[in-house]
Amino acid sequence: MKDELVITLSSLGGSRDIVVTWKAKLCVGLAGVVLLGTMAVMGITVLLTRASLAQAQAQLSALQEGHLTQKQRADELQQTLEEQVSEAKAPTQPPVEKKPPTPPATEGKVERPPSQSLRSTERAVRAADILVVPRTSVLPKLSERTLLLGMIPNGTPFKKAAKISSYFGLRTHPILRRIRSHKGIDFVASIGTPVYATAGGVVSRVNASSRGGYGRQVLIQHGLGFSSRYAHLSQVSIKSGEHVAKGTLLGLTGNSGRSTGPHLHYEVLYRGKTLDPINFARWSNQNFESIFAKEKEIPWASLIKQSHQWSQMASLPFSPKVVR
Ligand SMILES: [Zn+2]
Repeated sequence: MKDELVITLSSLGGSRDIVVTWKAKLCVGLAGVVLLGTMAVMGITVLLTRASLAQAQAQLSALQEGHLTQKQRADELQQTLEEQVSEAKAPTQPPVEKKPPTPPATEGKVERPPSQSLRSTERAVRAADILVVPRTSVLPKLSERTLLLGMIPNGTPFKKAAKISSYFGLRTHPILRRIRSHKGIDFVASIGTPVYATAGGVVSRVNASSRGGYGRQVLIQHGLGFSSRYAHLSQVSIKSGEHVAKGTLLGLTGNSGRSTGPHLHYEVLYRGKTLDPINFARWSNQNFESIFAKEKEIPWASLIKQSHQWSQMASLPFSPKVVR
């Protein structure tokens, strides 16, 4: 018959015929159509998913690019800021070798601030300093000043004028390429330049080997809580424990330790805390009082009182005798 399909199943037990009618054919046909439709829908879905995935990837890479641009901008801004900070610092801290014009007779008015606002700030600071110095104590006499300048670092560690290549404070480290605190100032000095103590004291530490960040270095413990460090030396001409006076030769400049070129790294510390050495490098008998305003964390009143006591030691109020 035309509308019938005869399927013959054969086995050991004999054979059997299955007759498939036109209805069954229709069912099979419909099932096929449904299957094809489903496959088509799935195919379209996969294509659509791929397209949206590609779009998402494009958006992601665009975002990443944007992020990189932002980062570059941030880096640029940071660099500009650092440059501005160092530029802003430069005029208030001119190189040490540029000595100020011969000062007038009045002491303590040698350093002229660059602007009116700074001048008024300094006046305010000076007014505050009067409170720091006790009313009962008078400012140190000339002999007491000489005593204090012999004990507290002042001037530079050189006999000749020296130029500064790096200032105190935050900077991008020349080797580590990270923002680090520069604990001292760097003086430009060719290898072999003699280095002298900026005040008297006892040599508390000597590193004669070139190992370590500071390389060959000398640390001096001065009176009244101050100390000073001289680093990256090529030669040390003093031993730990030796007593030095202001101007004693300590060694020669070099390039030892973590250093990118010949220079002297110089630090000034008070009770172990680093201070800006530029204030001390510019300090002298001519502008003696200027340091009170610049280094406000130091108990100057107490130091001056101490210098009074030393100057009066010849007449001690009592001198008890040892019995037995
Ligand atoms: Zn340095």
